Amino acid sequence: MLSPSELTGLAEEVTPKAVDLRRRLHQIPEPAHEEHETTALIGAILEDSGLEPNRRTPRTGLWLDVGDDPKVGFRADLDALPIFEPTGNIPRSRNEGWMHACGHDAHAAIATGIALAISRLALPVGVRFLYQPAEEANPGGASEFVGEGLVDDLRGLIAFHVDPSLEVGRIGSKAGPITGSADGFTITLTGPGGHTSRPHKTVNLIDAAGRVVRELPEAIRQSIDSRTPIVIVFGSIHGGSTSNVIPTEVTLVGTVRTLDRSIWDLLPGIVDKTLGHILAITGADYLLDYRQGIPPVVNDDRVVETATSSIREVIGPDSVVPTETSLGGEDFSNYLDIVPGALLRLGAYSGGGDLHSASFKVNEASIGVGIKAGVAALVGLTYQV
Ligand SMILES: [Zn+2]
Ligand SMILES: [Zn+2]
Repeated sequence: MLSPSELTGLAEEVTPKAVDLRRRLHQIPEPAHEEHETTALIGAILEDSGLEPNRRTPRTGLWLDVGDDPKVGFRADLDALPIFEPTGNIPRSRNEGWMHACGHDAHAAIATGIALAISRLALPVGVRFLYQPAEEANPGGASEFVGEGLVDDLRGLIAFHVDPSLEVGRIGSKAGPITGSADGFTITLTGPGGHTSRPHKTVNLIDAAGRVVRELPEAIRQSIDSRTPIVIVFGSIHGGSTSNVIPTEVTLVGTVRTLDRSIWDLLPGIVDKTLGHILAITGADYLLDYRQGIPPVVNDDRVVETATSSIREVIGPDSVVPTETSLGGEDFSNYLDIVPGALLRLGAYSGGGDLHSASFKVNEASIGVGIKAGVAALVGLTYQV
């Protein structure tokens, strides 16, 4: 096994190429499932270095095996967001109206740097690099890669997500849940309607909607283990048009988020059953359109431990810091149904600006740190699996 200083030297050698790739990717942000130029550019860089990436033509995304018998993997994502990048940013998007505002350009560049570094090492098992499309879409690229069997033989998987609130040089780590699930639902209540003077002769849908808003979140919390956080919030209610007519239809739209993978599986049934109980007393008919999004990312304790202890050895004892759970979704969770893994946060602070906003900026120095940390984590894992 290489010494920490040898790994650092190797990572530093490939970093300029990765930084250059990040700048080029930043200028060609593409929508989910349409990352054609992005895929072509990464593929060309890997091939120029003597590696043999696998393309998914005509679909986007690619994957690469470095060494035989890959048992360990690293995941990057490729898509951008429909955000207008402020003029004056350097480099800046050339696809007006689209911006790499979630740092996926950095993730792809870091993966490439790690692949170039790892290709010069002799490791006990091979390493697979997944450049998935469509992380921001639902269903996303992770579910496609899972469907194609790309993680079936892996025993450990790592991903980084840039974190604009964490300073460069730090890696945020957390065992267990690190991101929440994100499901959406639409409840359509229907009834015969009528005069507001005689609610007893009809079904008062406005009252029924009020009961759902007040009672559904608490009733669901009561029906699951109270140690499990669950957040049910309505974002929209529509129904009725005047003061003295009870409407025939009211729709309620909301989201449900949880950090518990097994509860997530059960949520559509729990919401439906609870809604039925609440509405039984009102006489309202209902239709529930429950849209399961992505499950929570639940980091594997052992992978987190191996990755972070390897990172500490290479970058320093203070480099790994605890991080908070975020209720924003990440489709990395789809892989974790198959393979134990860890999503780590990569410090990329550049003075402010949040993910998914036009003010977001990746601190370029995070790329070199990401490569070092990624090489360290993957090398560590190849000796553990
Ligand atoms: Zn995002
Ligand atoms: Zn992202």
